[in-house]
Amino acid sequence: MNKRQFYINGAWVDPAVQNDHPVINPSNEEICAIICLGSTADADAAVAAAQSAFPTWAATPPSERKAVVERILEQFVRRRQEMAEAMSVEMGAPMRLAYGAQAGALEWHLRNFLTAFDEIQWLKPHVGGEGNTMIAQEPIGVVGLITPWNWPMNQVTLKVIPAMLAGCTCVLKPSEEAPLSSMLFAEFVHDAGTPPGVFNLVNGDGAGVGTRLSSHPDVEMISFTGSTRAGRAISKAAADTLKRVTLELGGKGANLVFADADTAAVERGVRHMMQNSGQSCNAPSRMLVERPYYDCAVEIAAGVANSIKVAPASEEGDHIGPVVNKRQWERIQGYIQKGVEEGARLVAGGLGLPEGLNRGFYVRPTVFADVKPGMTIEREEIFGPVLTMMPFDTEEEAVRVANDTPYGLSNYVQTGDVDRRRRLALQLKAGMVEMNGAPLAAGTFFGGVKASGRAREGGVWGIEEFLESKAISGWNE
Ligand code: NAD
Repeated sequence: MNKRQFYINGAWVDPAVQNDHPVINPSNEEICAIICLGSTADADAAVAAAQSAFPTWAATPPSERKAVVERILEQFVRRRQEMAEAMSVEMGAPMRLAYGAQAGALEWHLRNFLTAFDEIQWLKPHVGGEGNTMIAQEPIGVVGLITPWNWPMNQVTLKVIPAMLAGCTCVLKPSEEAPLSSMLFAEFVHDAGTPPGVFNLVNGDGAGVGTRLSSHPDVEMISFTGSTRAGRAISKAAADTLKRVTLELGGKGANLVFADADTAAVERGVRHMMQNSGQSCNAPSRMLVERPYYDCAVEIAAGVANSIKVAPASEEGDHIGPVVNKRQWERIQGYIQKGVEEGARLVAGGLGLPEGLNRGFYVRPTVFADVKPGMTIEREEIFGPVLTMMPFDTEEEAVRVANDTPYGLSNYVQTGDVDRRRRLALQLKAGMVEMNGAPLAAGTFFGGVKASGRAREGGVWGIEEFLESKAISGWNE
């Protein structure tokens, strides 16, 4: 599959310099496509296209921008199967997950943005009703969007759609590990009749196109999702041009399970952890269990992990697939090894490939019990199907351990005690707290605090990230 071109100014164009990069199918380690890694010249061409499209796009009536996004949704609905296949091949999500949650995230966020869009007040009095001072909301300008491989369309939609709705023009650099879904998304944007230059896509790596976009003088904002390491590098690269930087980074979510939790809580936590082969920044990777229920919870967790099948992404079923690449596979093996060495008790899974699989980056669903605060597997984001479990005696201890992490993305609470639930929700240091398995409602945001970054993506917050407020006096004089 020759996928070497970039989408710039409304057309597929050849790269300035040929720099081939294979996309590897993690289910079988075979090359599934060849892309090109872009150069500074390619990034600059895309930024120039976005810059010349900006004044016209920013001045379109909001209803026109909304209509374009509605047409992108129509394209997706028509070609959802293709999108699922692209993600399944490039990053290993089993087809059921790729078609369901992975592709579904695109539709979910897009519809939520369309609803939120109607709430944006482009020009409003400073204090309700009459006002001599007005507040205008204006698009920030050309934005660079850098996305990872783990939930490819989720993250692309959370950035491209609000940027376009806000009136910004953009350059997307998807992950070089999973670029195929984004290239298909570019076809949706094109076929939706988006004006040239509003959306541009350049493939590349972090050191090349990623750094160029982050430091480009004509890019007003970078929106990034990925590792905390790259988030730091981007912030530094962006510093000289003082652009806005929004970061959605890693996590080490705590899941507090009390003895009065519902009987499905532990199983729910394990399945959530293992979904997408553990490659989710909001994974509940540290399960803290109230001591009287701890032994029972460990037994349930081991049983659930042992029952999870691991198989190629193309197979039909509820199994988990491989992790994205050899580097991640080796990193995860390193963490499992470290867990054993540091004295945690392995109760499910462990090192090596699952039985019956000898090609592909497959990891055994793994559970460590008796993990202690400070162990490497308790501190660091593993980004694989590895759950850590530890007991706690008091609510105070649970909160202290949960909050004692550099991260602060998503935390979880399982208890039948409503007062305790509400108390804990306000004490946990995180951007999101999910309780008793209840999902966050449509139109809420996704984002964290501390080393998880401080982005607020989704809904009205997600659109506002791409807007700047302007205060205007003397409006009525
Ligand atoms: P990464 O952060 O290196 O890559 C994510 C994206 O950032 C890619 O598009 C990459 O090309 C780009 N990038 C990398 N370095 C950059 C730089 N200096 N400047 C600009 N762009 C840059 O992530 P990875 O190496 O693919 O994964 C490593 C770890 O990152 C994982 O183990 C996990 O802990 C974390 N991660 C988190 C998320 C998340 O959703 N928060 C997603 C992916 C990975």
